[in-house]
Amino acid sequence: MPVIPSSKPYRIGRSRTGLGLFATKPIKKGAKIIRYIGPMLDCNKKKDDAVENKYLFQINKRWTIDGSVRKNIARYINHACKPNAESDVSSRKRKVVIRAIKNIEPGEEINYDYGTDYFKEYLKPIGCKCDACEKKRKKQRAEARAEKQREKAKAEKKAAKQAAKAQGALNGQQVNGHALNGKIPAGKSAKAKSATTKSARKTKQTRKG
Ligand SMILES: [Zn+2]
Repeated sequence: MPVIPSSKPYRIGRSRTGLGLFATKPIKKGAKIIRYIGPMLDCNKKKDDAVENKYLFQINKRWTIDGSVRKNIARYINHACKPNAESDVSSRKRKVVIRAIKNIEPGEEINYDYGTDYFKEYLKPIGCKCDACEKKRKKQRAEARAEKQREKAKAEKKAAKQAAKAQGALNGQQVNGHALNGKIPAGKSAKAKSATTKSARKTKQTRKG
């Protein structure tokens, strides 16, 4: 791994998706963090235009930085949909600087938005693993789970009601043909309720295992 001078406010570390760049010192909003460096590719040259890797940073229609080189520490910075930094592109100077757009605390991972093209080509097919997207997925999963539980509770309630109704009809017949007019005796209804609770507990255990 490349050596980073301790004067720099970042280090390379483990992130969710592999390696990432993490703040080691507080970085103020607006501060320059690091330059994105590498050989300049001219798309008008056939040889340059043929270069392909995940670290290409397009500056404008003609020029692209090939950031796949070892000395380009900025290539360790991962994408995030809600990032704490941005890429500041100077098209005229053909220079890219990663700049903080929030105050970044030591220990925080530094991220910037790679842009729509990269997202579509590399991240969408595998699913973006950034904090914002993970959070969104977690929320969706929780909602789906809650919906499932609601459906289940509804079905169980319906089944219990039907069972109680059938029992009630049976009782009605037994009481000297005294019809109960669809009313359920209180005792039976309580029994049905306890049956529901029991089956709910059973499913919970099954899921755990
Ligand atoms: Zn994302």
